[in-house]
Amino acid sequence: MEKYSHLRVIGEGSFGRAVLVQCKSTQEKYVLKEIQLPKNQSKQQSSRKEAVLLSTMKHPSIVAFREVFEADGLLCIVMEYCSGGDLLHKIQLQKSSQFTVDNILKWFAQMCAGAKYIHDKRVLHRDLKSKNVFLADDGSVKLGDFGSACILNSSKAYAYTYVGTPYYVAPEIWDNKPYNNKSDVWSLGCVLYELCTLRHPFQASSWKSLILKVCRGAYPPLPNHLPYELHYLIKHMFKTNPKDRPSVHTILTSHRVSRLLRTHL
Ligand code: ADP
Ligand code: MG
Repeated sequence: MEKYSHLRVIGEGSFGRAVLVQCKSTQEKYVLKEIQLPKNQSKQQSSRKEAVLLSTMKHPSIVAFREVFEADGLLCIVMEYCSGGDLLHKIQLQKSSQFTVDNILKWFAQMCAGAKYIHDKRVLHRDLKSKNVFLADDGSVKLGDFGSACILNSSKAYAYTYVGTPYYVAPEIWDNKPYNNKSDVWSLGCVLYELCTLRHPFQASSWKSLILKVCRGAYPPLPNHLPYELHYLIKHMFKTNPKDRPSVHTILTSHRVSRLLRTHL
């Protein structure tokens, strides 16, 4: 007998679909992500690798992994259900009323804690964006959707392939330079900016002008009422040279904003 009953489909993507399920024995709800297994054997192995990767992540700011199984050519990943949905949706619901500074700092601190945890394991997320940040029942945020993540190892210290969403892609990627941990920091900066303004920092009507703005690091100024630490932080997260950008470790420990963030963790 099946262990989970299907409640409803909550998301559909290129991978397959995400279904809200309930465990028949405990009544607990989970999200079951069904991934169509490719016909090709080596590609199959890489799909399974993603599930294995996720299974090693245990942190309060990462969507928790429960189990993985295969059924009818589908790879099924069962994970924690975040009932608040994704952060992009939450931002869109705000219309024009801004989040409080406390709220912004709390969520940002949690995202940094999750990102630091994966970076310490030499894993890069590579698709950080508000749509891949999820809101748990208790109001905290968690990083999810590790479908694009990769492990850095010594022989292949950088990942070259572009996998992200254009609004969040760091300038070095457009410049054909390697993806690295600072590219994740750039994307996190984009999410922080969205929390502060409810808008993308880099927006344009064409790809060409979007890429130009990103590569110049030119974004509309933040509202004045925000604390100077946030202005300062965003300025540094949007340094076009990744070497000048702080790591998440630095942001949490020795940046001018660290003390503010730590009071929110
Ligand atoms: P992809 O972006 O590759 O299509 P995601 O894992 O981001 O796949 O899931 C797609 C959608 O399903 C999300 O935008 C969200 O609405 C929903 N979803 C995914 N995982 C969860 C979760 N753990 N809790 C709540 N909703 C989720
Ligand atoms: Mg996603």
